[in-house]
Amino acid sequence: MNISTILDMAAEAFGDRVAVVSGEQRLSYAQLREHALSAAAYLRASGAGYLALLDVASPATPVAIFAAAYAGVPYVPLNYRLTAPELNALVARVAPAVLVTNAEYRQLLTPHDGMQLIDRDAFMALPIAGDEVAQPDEDPRAVAVQLFTSGTTGQPKAAILRHENLMSYIVGTVEFAAADEADAIVVTVPPYHIAGISAVLSSTYACRRMVQLPNFDPRAWLQAMRSENVSNAFLVPTMLGRIVEHLDASGEAPALPALRALAYGGGKMPLATIERAMQLFPQVGFTNAYGLTETSSTIAVLGPDDHRAAAASDDPRVRRRLSSVGRAAAVEIEIRDDEGRVLGAEDAGMVYVRGPQVSGEYQSLGSQLDADGWFPTKDRGYLDADGYLFLDGRADDVIVRGGENISPGEIEDVLLAHPAVADVACVAIPDAQWGEAVAAAVVLHADGVASVAELQELVRARLRSSRVPQAVVFRDALPYNETGKILRRVIRQELATQVAAAAA
Ligand code: ATP
Repeated sequence: MNISTILDMAAEAFGDRVAVVSGEQRLSYAQLREHALSAAAYLRASGAGYLALLDVASPATPVAIFAAAYAGVPYVPLNYRLTAPELNALVARVAPAVLVTNAEYRQLLTPHDGMQLIDRDAFMALPIAGDEVAQPDEDPRAVAVQLFTSGTTGQPKAAILRHENLMSYIVGTVEFAAADEADAIVVTVPPYHIAGISAVLSSTYACRRMVQLPNFDPRAWLQAMRSENVSNAFLVPTMLGRIVEHLDASGEAPALPALRALAYGGGKMPLATIERAMQLFPQVGFTNAYGLTETSSTIAVLGPDDHRAAAASDDPRVRRRLSSVGRAAAVEIEIRDDEGRVLGAEDAGMVYVRGPQVSGEYQSLGSQLDADGWFPTKDRGYLDADGYLFLDGRADDVIVRGGENISPGEIEDVLLAHPAVADVACVAIPDAQWGEAVAAAVVLHADGVASVAELQELVRARLRSSRVPQAVVFRDALPYNETGKILRRVIRQELATQVAAAAA
């Protein structure tokens, strides 16, 4: 019940196998373990406090994760996209004993008493320590990772993941591949996100080769997939969108002979993107993985068979599953209304989840699980009669117009069906009469043409009049974060200012 066991097992069974590839650097599982043990010795000597990492993905990422586990201290990856004041505020909150970083990010940090700053290269060159260093905390409730959520809906919250949560997730969700030396996964998600942690743990558990690609670019991704003969990959939807766009625009052949499985998640996948990706890569099994930081990653999965069945079906009930996030993985999922009553099939409410991988706990806020162990995800959605989960957006993004709750997702789906619309986000703007009104930020395809009136008419024809966007603003692109989440807060502020200025 300690995540270091995963590395022990991999190093024992396949010590010579390549564990990490990063540019020219390669580490075998035996070397990865050796580095992690050396770093664990250093952590102990440095006071055995939190280990923080402020860096892009490199071999130091898995080393830090496992070193903290061997030393019995929590691991805290930090978001290098934050501004210096935001970062220093987080560092002050965590007060790590050791912070691993690089020369560029080091300049952003204000030194703290009792905090050792160590360069990534020095961290990877620590003197070799023996096996006796490994003293993992055997308490399954020991904290393995403290992870800040994206903060897309407010201040980042420090989610606490215990060894038992992460181990339950790995053992319950990841198939133990172990056997095939050729298996490799390309990892493009940053280390500070739960998907980055889960990539390291699941790849080690499956004894795969993990190819790190810190700066995502469609060309570099395709090239790495080919040069490393990659069999598996995980992408956030915006990345898959860019790959599809690149292939369609350049005419480059989508030949990726080794690729068998492509998983995606972290944000909503546009239907057009997944449909096109399935055409471009017919040999690939696609998986939509829905999860949260607080649930140690994936809680629902739409697997390859579901993708193929939905794409090939004429039955609208089956066909629409391509827009779902699939069925509960190693957890239970239910939908409840605002009063906490459990809802039946097709009724929309808040998604609740329960299971051993669900931590639902934040530093200082404590556990958010109810008496029966259920965690409110803050995502709205519904289950169909066969248990497929359809997400409707986050509860915080609901637009409350004159007391009526409007989910932006339903309007966005209608607008996206217009052939000229490439991307859209509907948000609340202040309204004197209704409190809030609907506004839409719309991105058109390069050759797409659509008027405001036409888009409003489309919504009026399909939904109730309260859903018709009062303002439609065209933009070149919408803001997304690195992990594929649309930044609605930013859009909300911009549209509110723009609409108010236009009215003045
Ligand atoms: P904060 O709570 O601070 O705003 P965050 O919740 O954005 O941060 P994460 O834990 O990274 O931080 O995000 C989890 C959310 O991402 C889910 O609640 C869901 O809204 C969205 N999400 C994750 N996977 C998928 C998916 N496959 N499809 C659609 N949405 C997804």
